[in-house]
Amino acid sequence: MRHVLPGTQASRGMALGRARLVQPSRYAVDTRPLAEDEVAGELENLHRALDTARQELRELRGKLHGALAREVNEFIDAHSLLLDDAELLRGLDDLVRIGHYRAGAALKKQRDRLAAVFEAMDDPYLRSRKEDIDQVIARVVSALQRQTSVEERKLAARVGEILVADTIAPADMAQLAGNGLLGVVTSSGSAYSHSAILARSLGLPMLVGARDALALLHDDDLILLDAEHGEAIVHPTAQDLARYRAWQREAAAEGRRLATLANAATRTRDGMDIRLLANAETPADVALARTRGADGVGLYRTEFLFLRHKGLPSEDEQFIAYRDLVLGMGGLPVTIRTLDLGADKADAAGLVLRGEDNPALGVRGVRLSLRYPAVFTTQIRAILRAACYGPVRVLVPMVTQPDELIAVRTLFKLARQDLKRESIDLPEKLPLGAMIEVPAAAINVRALLEHADFLAIGTNDLAQYVLAADRGNDALDNIYTPLQPAMLRLLSHVISSGRRARKPVSLCGEIGGDVHFTAMLLALGLNEFSMHPSQLLQVRDRLATLDHAALRGHATRLLRATTHEQVAALLAQLEA
Ligand code: PEP
Ligand code: MG
Repeated sequence: MRHVLPGTQASRGMALGRARLVQPSRYAVDTRPLAEDEVAGELENLHRALDTARQELRELRGKLHGALAREVNEFIDAHSLLLDDAELLRGLDDLVRIGHYRAGAALKKQRDRLAAVFEAMDDPYLRSRKEDIDQVIARVVSALQRQTSVEERKLAARVGEILVADTIAPADMAQLAGNGLLGVVTSSGSAYSHSAILARSLGLPMLVGARDALALLHDDDLILLDAEHGEAIVHPTAQDLARYRAWQREAAAEGRRLATLANAATRTRDGMDIRLLANAETPADVALARTRGADGVGLYRTEFLFLRHKGLPSEDEQFIAYRDLVLGMGGLPVTIRTLDLGADKADAAGLVLRGEDNPALGVRGVRLSLRYPAVFTTQIRAILRAACYGPVRVLVPMVTQPDELIAVRTLFKLARQDLKRESIDLPEKLPLGAMIEVPAAAINVRALLEHADFLAIGTNDLAQYVLAADRGNDALDNIYTPLQPAMLRLLSHVISSGRRARKPVSLCGEIGGDVHFTAMLLALGLNEFSMHPSQLLQVRDRLATLDHAALRGHATRLLRATTHEQVAALLAQLEA
């Protein structure tokens, strides 16, 4: 019988496939003790499963490209370390050898034991590691149940399947997408989670918050995942299937039409030129930015380099990465953001302070860089050297007050003097800009503009701090929306202050590449958008349908709205 499960769109698109359910922590545990002569064989099974899990993680690395690669690699690193943890492995061996546990039962026992230890910890960061333990053990359990080679598993892959789970880890999403998975439905989760952002960059349709999905669906049920309308249809009818086929035809035609926009100018319907920049970190992002006709790189997150690296990357390693970015853009301007470690961005370099009660409000971004002038200076020297190869701008994250920019400028000046003494030729001027993502910076933006050459608005963090709502917390979806009147007023204030000071203002948060917000941003006066390069063509296309002058004329009405529902209603009217 046809049944509709409502949910929230986390990544656009539709998919038709068989349901594959992943029940949370479903361990097939055989608790019968092993006979003495079974122990050696069971140890072999256990170690083969551990090896398979390690190999899966190794394969995952490198497979992923796009803006989220850094976050996913971070999970992979943490999980790989756990799989090699001597204490975990000794505990498992002892349970099988001495306790005569079967491998599955030993894994469950170790999972419960470690989960209890992590849960009892005071440090919220360490407490959150329980999730990693769960995910790693689940991976080994699943390898144990299959006990097949990775090659076989690839063949028996997820072709034609739609994953139905409570939540999904970013690393698993990346792996499954490479194995033919068609879409994802989760019963919890938020559209702003790392997995949701990853699904968008992989082009995988995803529905979150489909509350009863795990209870109502069965393995192999046919589902039509319709993220466009925020629903999953179980046992779709012939009419549903016809709608799906029509969508497929339209999507293919749309793809062909968008491809023709790759080298087109970016202009509104009434002829206003807009600059489209790319948020690009990997060589694949840079290549895509070029082929889709970006006007430059608006955000290069250098954390990526640091997170991939064990320990700190050297000046030369950084220089080569930045230089290749500059060369890759072939003379177009490139915006390199200085290190933004801290808070949710884990830290392979060991710089981030642990034990902060509120890491999101702690020593992160420029606050952290200024605490380690030697580390920061290494990065600054690498950026200065790369700037000899093409136009570079420097962007400083998490700026709160002018003295931070002044301190960064001083460090640049000192590094420049040192490099000159070493007879390294440098470009005369390097524009220095501030990210606007702390409410104080947005409110007091005029003071910052006295020291900044340009601004880049980071709406992901700005919304989180203005609304006091963690962007990954799905319980706060009704609050965390960029349509909040307070956000509109702040954005308008920052953009108009930049214009008055005759300094460029771009926006590089997720909404910059989301066509649902393009009209609103244009109305508020934005003329530089930075986004993942996969979104460039859609935004260029959207802009061509919008009338800049008319939207600017409605800015005052938008800014007078008192609720986000009112803002949404006004925007719908303007776009109609
Ligand atoms: C932002 O906060 O909007 C932003 C672009 O930076 P990040 O997502 O890297 O914190
Ligand atoms: Mg940010």
